[in-house]
Amino acid sequence: MMAAPAMEAADAAGFTDSFSLSLEEVEEGRRIRACLQCAACSGICPFGYLMDFPPHKMISAMRAGMFEKVMGVDSLWLCVSCYACAQICPAQIPLTNGLMTRAKEEMLLTGSIPAELQEALENSQRYGNALGEPPRRRADWAMDIEPAVPILSKIKRPVEVLWFVGDYASYHPRGRQASQALARVLNRLDVDYGILGPEENSDGDSQRLAGETGLFEMLAEKNARAFGKYEFEEILTTDPHAFNALKNEYPALGISYPVAHYSQFLAGRLDRLQPLLTREIPARVAFHDPCYLGRANGIYEDPRRLLTAVPGVELVEMLHTRETSICCGGGGGGMWLDGFRWEKAHFRLSEIRVQEAIDVRADILAVTCPYEMPRFEDATKTVTGAKHLVVKDIAELLVDSLIEQG
Ligand code: SF4
Ligand code: SF4
Repeated sequence: MMAAPAMEAADAAGFTDSFSLSLEEVEEGRRIRACLQCAACSGICPFGYLMDFPPHKMISAMRAGMFEKVMGVDSLWLCVSCYACAQICPAQIPLTNGLMTRAKEEMLLTGSIPAELQEALENSQRYGNALGEPPRRRADWAMDIEPAVPILSKIKRPVEVLWFVGDYASYHPRGRQASQALARVLNRLDVDYGILGPEENSDGDSQRLAGETGLFEMLAEKNARAFGKYEFEEILTTDPHAFNALKNEYPALGISYPVAHYSQFLAGRLDRLQPLLTREIPARVAFHDPCYLGRANGIYEDPRRLLTAVPGVELVEMLHTRETSICCGGGGGGMWLDGFRWEKAHFRLSEIRVQEAIDVRADILAVTCPYEMPRFEDATKTVTGAKHLVVKDIAELLVDSLIEQG
C-alpha cells in the first residue's frame, strides 16, 4: 500500500511541522531523531510533572506533527534551563540548549510571554541589565574598597585580568557584598585586575536561554566592543552564567578570550591563598553546585577545594550533589519568572535545596553564583528549622578566614 504524501515527508525527515523542520537544519536539532522515548529527561526535570509537554512529550508531539499543541500552553516557561535533562539523556540530545531554548524562542515569536519576563528582557535591551538599573551605577559596589578596584577606562593601562562582574553581582545588595569580598581576596593576592564598570553589559546568557537570541547577540557585541578597547590576558567571571556565555557561546560570534570562573581562578592560586586563611570557621558547610558551573561545564572540585582550605570547615554533601544538584530556580530566565512559577507550582526549588542543607545539619550553605544568595536566603525564612542556616558566597567565607590577617 502506498503511503500518503504527508507521511512520506514525516518518514524522510522524522518531523513535519515548521518548528521541527527548522530544528532539522542544525546538527543538534537533527539529534532529536535519536530519541528513545525513555522519558528519563522528563523524570529528572524538577518541574517535569507540572509541564503539559515535558521534553519527551514535546518530542512525541513533534513526531506526530502536532507541535502547535506545545505552543498552545504556557508551562514551557517552567523550564529553568538546568541541564539535568541534557545530562541524563542516553541519546545525548542537547535538550536544554537546543530543544527547550528553541521552543522558548518560538513562544516569544508568538507573543506568549509572562509579563515579568518581558520586563526583564526590555530592561536588558534598554539598560544593559535585567534589573533596570542605571549603567552609570554599575561600579558603585566598589566605592569603599581599599585599595581601590581599578576601572579600566580610568587606569588606562594593560592588566592581566579583566574581571567581568555581571548584573546581580553589581546591583543586587547581596551580590554586591559578595563582589566586595572577592575584590578583597584579589587585592590580598595582588592580582593585577580591572573591571569595565559602566561599560559592562549583561552577559546575556539567561536572556538567550529564555529564548531571546537576538538580545543575547546584541549584549555580546556590546561587551565585545568594550573588551576590544583594553589589553588583558584573561577574563575572570563572578557569575557561572557569564562564564558559560564567554566560554561556550561568545566564540560562535567571533568573541573569544581565555576565561575562568572565580572559583577556578582562586583554586589555581591556592598555594598562595591557603597560608593567608588563618582564622578558623568551625562550621558544617554544604556547597550548592550551580547548574552552569557544574552540569554545563563540569567544574565540581574547585569550589570544594577552596572550602576545604578554610580551617575549621567540615564539608558535607547534600542529597543532590555534583551532577545531580538541583537548580536554585534562577536559571533560564527563572530569576524573572518567580510569580509565574509560584502560581503554577506553589513551591520554590530553592526551598528544596535549603531543606537538603538542613537535612545534613549544615550551618552554612555556600554558593558561587549571584543568583543563588537571595533565593536561598528567602528560602531560609520559609523552610521550617532553617532560620539558623547562613547563606554565604565562597568569596565571603574566604574573607572571613582572611580577616584576622588585617
Ligand atoms: S532522555 Fe533523551 S532519549 Fe530519553 S526520552 Fe528524553 S530526549 Fe528521548
Ligand atoms: S533544562 Fe531542566 S527544567 Fe528545563 S526541561 Fe530540562 S530538566 Fe526540565
